[in-house]
Formats: sequence, C-alpha cells, structure tokens
Amino acid sequence: MKTKRNLTTGQLTGLSITESLGITPLINAGGPNTRHSGSRPRPETIRAMEAMSEVFVQMDELLIAAGERIAELTGNEAATVTSGASGGMVVQAAAAMAKDDPDRISRLPITDGMPNELIIQKGHRFIYDHLYLAPGARFVEAGGPDGCTIYEVEAAITARTAGFIHLESPFKNVGAVPLPDLAELAHSHGLPVLADCASMLPPRENLTSYTGQGADLVSFSGGKAVRGPQSTGFLVGKPEWIEYARLNNAPNPGVTRAQKVSKEEIAGLLAALEAFVSVDEEAETRKYREQMNFIVDQIAEIPGMTVEVKHNYDHYIPQAVVTFNDQWRGPSTSEIVTRLKAGTPRVFAADGQGPSNVMWIDPLNLQEGEVEIVAEQFRIILIEAASGR
Ligand SMILES: *Cc1c(COP(=O)(O)O)cnc(C)c1O
Repeated sequence: MKTKRNLTTGQLTGLSITESLGITPLINAGGPNTRHSGSRPRPETIRAMEAMSEVFVQMDELLIAAGERIAELTGNEAATVTSGASGGMVVQAAAAMAKDDPDRISRLPITDGMPNELIIQKGHRFIYDHLYLAPGARFVEAGGPDGCTIYEVEAAITARTAGFIHLESPFKNVGAVPLPDLAELAHSHGLPVLADCASMLPPRENLTSYTGQGADLVSFSGGKAVRGPQSTGFLVGKPEWIEYARLNNAPNPGVTRAQKVSKEEIAGLLAALEAFVSVDEEAETRKYREQMNFIVDQIAEIPGMTVEVKHNYDHYIPQAVVTFNDQWRGPSTSEIVTRLKAGTPRVFAADGQGPSNVMWIDPLNLQEGEVEIVAEQFRIILIEAASGR
C-alpha cells in the first residue's frame, strides 16, 4: 500500500522511501548481488558524494586526476573510473580495438577493417562475457570446457586479434592458462590481456596481483566489497592502455556514452577506496568469521546437511555455507531461498542458482543486530523444511 508521503517533505528514512513506494525492503544476507541492490555504500562514500555536488568541474580533468588517485591508492601505475566492472569490460574491448584512433573510436561498434577478435578460453565463458562484445568485438574460443593450453591460445591468434580475455574467479580457473603465461604470449604479439577480476576484493593485495602478473587492464567492481557507489568500478593497468580506455570511455562521444559516471559517484568511489585500503583486513576477517560462526552454531544440529564457515583464502570474505546431503528430506535450495525472502522480515540468502545443494549466508551487508535476526529466520525455516514441510 502506497502512502502519500514523498521524498521532499518530512523526515526522510530508508523505510519512509520504500513505504511511500509500496515496496518492502529486505535484509541482505546474500552478498553484494546487483539484483538485491549491491552493497551498502560506506558513510565516507555518501559524504564525498554530497560534498562533490557543490561544485562543477571539467570532466576529463576530474577523470584524469581521479585515475591518478586510484593508481596511488591501489599501488598501480595507472587507473581510471568505469561504470561498474561490467562497464570496465566494455571499455577494455573498445580500447583493445580502437586504441587512441579517433576515427575508430567514433565508429565503434562498427569494426569493419580493424582487429576485432578477442581470444577467450572456453572455460572462461560466463554470464557477463557478452559485455566484451558490446563495442563490436567477437570471440574466438580456445581450448575446451575443462581446460586450455597455451598452444591452443596461440593457435587462435590471427591478423584480426585485438586482445586476450582472462577471467579471475575461484570457480573458473581450473585448467586455465596461468595469467603470466598468457601475458607473455600476448605481449610477444604486441597485444593486451584484458582481465575481469570484478569480485576478487578483498584481499586488498589483489589490487596489484593481476597487474603484477602481466595483465594490461584489470577490471574491478567499486560497488561490491569496496562499498563505493553501486554503479562504479575501476580499471588498473599499464599507462598506455589506461589512456586508451579513458579515450574510449564516457564522457567522450562513442559507444560507451551510455556508461557515464557522475562527478558525485567518482568522488564517492575515491572516498570508498581510500577507506577500503586503510581497513585492518585481519580484524575485518575475524569479525565476519565470528558472525558466520554464530549462524553455524544456530543451525548445526539440523539433520540432512553440513554447515561450515568457508573462506577461500585468496577470495573475498568468510561465509556460512550449508550443503544438503543424501539424508536431506526437505525442499530444494531455491525453495528455501524463496521462503526466506517471503518471510517477515524478508531475508535474501544466496544459492548456487540452478540445480545445486549449496546455499550460503554472506556477512558483507549485515547491519548491527541483523546476524541474530538472520540466524533465527534461517533456523526456523530450515527446521520446518527438514521435517518435510
Ligand atoms: C560482479 C561481477 C561483474 C560485474 O561487476 P559490476 O561492478 O556489477 O558491473 C563482472 N564480472 C564478474 C566476474 C563479477 O563477479
């Protein structure tokens, strides 16, 4: 039911906004998933956005200066701002094809007469990879679903090759060509490696890990664990390729115009990154682990499943992971996720999507007091489900 309340009078809260629109907010216990509105911007992020609204600037000056600041904060040679890691992927492909040629830049996504092939290992194909095609590139696949050799990648190179794609994801790297080998091959042909490392933060050391292994442009999300504006991301890499990326990106006219990032979002991202890199990572990990141990303790006795805190050490943060086993008599993980979301309060928990016996709770977005609420809702729904209801 919508109320008459609006956004310009009276006391404004998150709840007053959702109420006035007739929608119900949820507790986000499933991580910085875009469909569930990402992550909570840091207070520093919001403060910088509000302050930046007071001034006007020349956007290219701001973007160059912001890039220099990001490079400094992350320990890279060069950097630039993008509209999410996916915006970064579009810009990577555009930069690989058009470089700094104004005629090519203005012609994208029409790529007749320019190198437009991106070599991608079959195992690196994933749901967002079509972003690379948006500026007019096409894929040339190498290897099979279970792995790829450097020779298979090399055999895919033609006169039309514009670059190589590398996906960094803990689930996708089995059997892939190691990044340093891919970079060596690419560079021996004068070609760039475009890496998508969107969700590989924390650990903070990953900010320099992929550029250190030779990637020329590395795309990160600003709206996941960095907790900048949800719409932001950034590329780090070699100065030459960062410059090509900037020239191919908004606000310059061209195919990436639809991906503009406002001065407020740029300031918000800088503040978020400044805060992100200064956090004590050990203490942060310990806090998340304690919260997830609490969830595990609340549901550990329920039959038909194993539950444990998992933290893949080179990726992200500890999560409470439930794996249903052969003794499980209840409904599917997706049904449990649906029930949690239909509850009061609504809770978003994540599952493997599609047929999967795994689901998990992610602490990144949990606010003060919410771990207890999530644990209780999860326990009630799991006990009910375990009894076959
Ligand atoms: C999240 C993610 C993206 C998209 O990032 P946005 O910042 O939401 O645009 C791309 N690639 C991978 C591997 C991701 O995990």
